[in-house]
Formats: sequence, C-alpha cells, structure tokens
Amino acid sequence: MTNNDEQNLDRVDLEKNFLGSIESGMSLPTDKMPEHPMAPDVAAQLVQHYRLNEAKADQNLATFCTTEMEPQADKLMLSALNTNAIDKSEYPKTAAMENYCVSFLAHLWGVPDGQKMYKDFIGTSTVGSSEGCMLGGLSLLLGWKHRAKAAGFDIDDLHTHKPNLVIMSGYQVVWEKFCTYWNVELRQVPIDGEHMSMDMDHVMDYVDENTIGIVGIQGITYTGAVDDIQKLDKLVSEYNKTAVLPLRIHVDSAFGGLFAPFVDGFKPWDFRLKNVVSINVSGHKYGMVYPGIGWIVWKKNNYDYLPKEMRFQVPYLGKTVDSIAINFSHSGAHIVAQYYNFIRFGVNGFKAIMNNVRKVSLKLTDELKKFGIFEIVNDGSQLPINCWKLADDANVGWTLYDLESELAKHGWQVPAYPLPKNRDDTTISRIVVRPSMTMTIADDFIDDLHLAINGLNKAHPAPQNIFADEDTVQHMVTK
Ligand SMILES: *Cc1c(COP(=O)(O)O)cnc(C)c1O
Repeated sequence: MTNNDEQNLDRVDLEKNFLGSIESGMSLPTDKMPEHPMAPDVAAQLVQHYRLNEAKADQNLATFCTTEMEPQADKLMLSALNTNAIDKSEYPKTAAMENYCVSFLAHLWGVPDGQKMYKDFIGTSTVGSSEGCMLGGLSLLLGWKHRAKAAGFDIDDLHTHKPNLVIMSGYQVVWEKFCTYWNVELRQVPIDGEHMSMDMDHVMDYVDENTIGIVGIQGITYTGAVDDIQKLDKLVSEYNKTAVLPLRIHVDSAFGGLFAPFVDGFKPWDFRLKNVVSINVSGHKYGMVYPGIGWIVWKKNNYDYLPKEMRFQVPYLGKTVDSIAINFSHSGAHIVAQYYNFIRFGVNGFKAIMNNVRKVSLKLTDELKKFGIFEIVNDGSQLPINCWKLADDANVGWTLYDLESELAKHGWQVPAYPLPKNRDDTTISRIVVRPSMTMTIADDFIDDLHLAINGLNKAHPAPQNIFADEDTVQHMVTK
C-alpha cells in the first residue's frame, strides 16, 4: 500500500463520520454550488448544525403559525409530501378531503339554512391567508366591475371610477399588496385613542360608488382586537337600501376564524351576517397545521360572488372541476394534515384546546398586571393575543425594545413595535398564545419575565431610583 492509498482509505472511513469529514472542517458553501458531492449524512448534519441558533419553536411567542403537531400528523404529512394537490385526478382523495375541509369551515362559519351542501357554497385551499385574501379581494373587484358596468359606469375611466377598498389601518400587508397589484385605492379608516379597531362612526365616510367592498378583520394582527363586523353589517345594510351598487363585506379571519367558533364571547362576525360574502382563514394558525395552508370560502356558489373568470377548469375523474387558487403546484400534505386535525379533534377537541389557550392568555394578563408598570392593550378575553405597553406613569429607565432584547437572552421571542399610523408614537409588546403554549411554558415565561425586568431595573434604573440609590450611598458614608 502506498501512502496515498492509505490516505484514501482513511478518507473513505472518515466520510462515514461527520466530525472527521473534510466538509465539517470547512466553512459552508455559500456563493457557488460546490463542485463535488458529499455523503448525505454529512450534508444533512451540516445543514442541521447550521440551523443551531435559530429560534426554539415553543419559545417563539411572536409567531401565529403552528410549531407543533402530533406525531401521527407528522407521519401523515411525510407520507403525502410527494403528492401534488393540484393533480386532482391523480390524487382524488386529497381533492375530496380539500372539499370536506371547505365544507367543515362553511358550517363552522354559519352558512345559511338551505345552502348547507358543498355545491351551494364554494371554496378552496390556498397556500396561506395571503392567497385567500388575494382571491377574496379579486372576487370583490371583478364582481364590482360587472355590477358597475351593468349600472352604466365607464369603468375604464380611472379618473372617475378608480376602484377602492375600505379597511381599518391595522391591516396585514397582503391588503396593500392586493391594492398595489390590481391598481385599487386602499382607503384606510384610521385608528385613534378610542378606536383600536374599525371606527364604526366613520367607516361609511370612506365609502362611495367605486368601493369594491369593505374588509372586516376578525383578528387584527397588530393587537388581536376585532372589528365589530356585526355593526358593520348593519351599516352596510342601511347603505345598500339606497345604493346604486350594493356593498359587500369580506372577512379576513386569518387567525380568528379557527378560534372564535370554539369559545364564548364573540358577536356574530361570519356568514350569519347578511352582507358577509367571503371569509379567509390560515390553516397554519389556529387550524394547527404547519405553515403552508390557508382557506377561503364564498357563502354562495354563484357568479356574482365568485365571478366566472376566476374559475378555471382542471381535469378531475374524467370530468372537470373549478380551480380557483392562484398558486398551482404544491404538496397535498397540508390538506391531509388539515383534514386529520378536523376529524381527530372534532368540535369538542377544538373547544378544549382553544379554551386552554384562552386560559393561558388570561393568566398572562393577570401576571402582567401584577408588575404595576404595564397597561394592557389586549387582555386575551377575546382572541388570545396579549398586548401591553408601558403605563404612562411607569417610572422605568428602559423601553419595551430593551425588554425584547433581555427576554431574548432567556430564549423568548417577544417583539416590540409601534402601533399603526396615528398611534405610532405608542410602542407595544405582543405575545401570540398558541395551542403549544401550555400553562407550564407560560409559568416558565413569567419567571423569566421577572428576571428580565429585575435585570433591566438594575442596568437602567429609573431617574428617581438613582436619587434613591445616592441617598443610600450618602447614608452609608456618613454612618
Ligand atoms: C397572518 C395574517 C395574514 C396573512 O396570512 P398568511 O397565512 O401568513 O399568508 C392576513 N391577514 C391577517 C389578519 C393575518 O393575521
């Protein structure tokens, strides 16, 4: 054996061993794809090591998205990962499960009696609420165009008939995207000290004949507050009595849509209301599926609510069905997982889970109040989002941004950020309580919150505390 042969043999053995591999002694490729392959175990471990300091899912209190599913669901998803949800002929059972989920949602959201069959309403899975909002917005826009044309408007004359959409100013960014992509004017109803959700005293001031619809938000991303959609529905009904073009409401219930139906304390916000025509939800928020799924349902399956030009024919079992979604290929795994969650937990299971979530959220509010320095902005008695600000009379030498950094040292992610326009001088902190946040995790968090605040008080004493400290020092010196 030559020296070279021995080295080659060593190398072959070492490649089986991650720590001794050549690659683990080198920096990760980042600019150009590497010339040579590496052993799959080595590559997999390198990627795993690279992810080392990413957030620990259960300590990430910033996200709305699911970070924990049951092992059975994990397995199901893995087995369906190689399917394509759009191939409805090849995966007819996945397509069927998609429709079953749409039907479950339509019923949860109170479709009217007499139209409780799948053919009466219509919907689709999406990649997330963003795609659902986009579709909801588009159906409002195209529906408005048809009605405006029929009413004799010259809709090509953008000076007099530029379409607009009315929404409160704490909207999620997808609505800005929608309006930019489709050249729709975004009319924001501002928030103020008294109105942290849609201002019902003024919303109708923003409406005119070019309004394609109003979006009600059942769960404002910033604060977890909800728009009073029942009130909005009344206002719209009143307006529609004399309107040339009757108005409609789309509800963005990205996170509230799979929470509100299972707990007490919400006014009607869904299809029970006359003018609500479509609703979107994120399956990957309180639908408890990993990121990559959302839903939209239209209350009635007609061309008025979901215009014909938004329905595309795809083959299905020798016939064709409507394809509505914007995205085409994506895995069927998320649909399978959503259906699993629905039949696994059932209504009572969802109730039990969401009531636990609420309990944790209320407990956090109690604990936050005990510090005596916070003002509660959202208390978890409706949607399980905890938001707070520093009270005006809180005499501390640090900010919520400092608190964010301090909590991060304990591994918790709790973002601080300003409120929307008009109130953007106010900074708040937010925790999204998700089903994976058990009371044990909440208790642990509260312990660390005490440590974090004590640490901050020491490092950044409030002005008057400095005097107090000096007094003590003086006292000790003169003694
Ligand atoms: C999260 C959210 C969205 C966007 O949803 P994705 O599922 O992340 O695409 C839209 N609207 C509201 C109110 C949200 O909270």
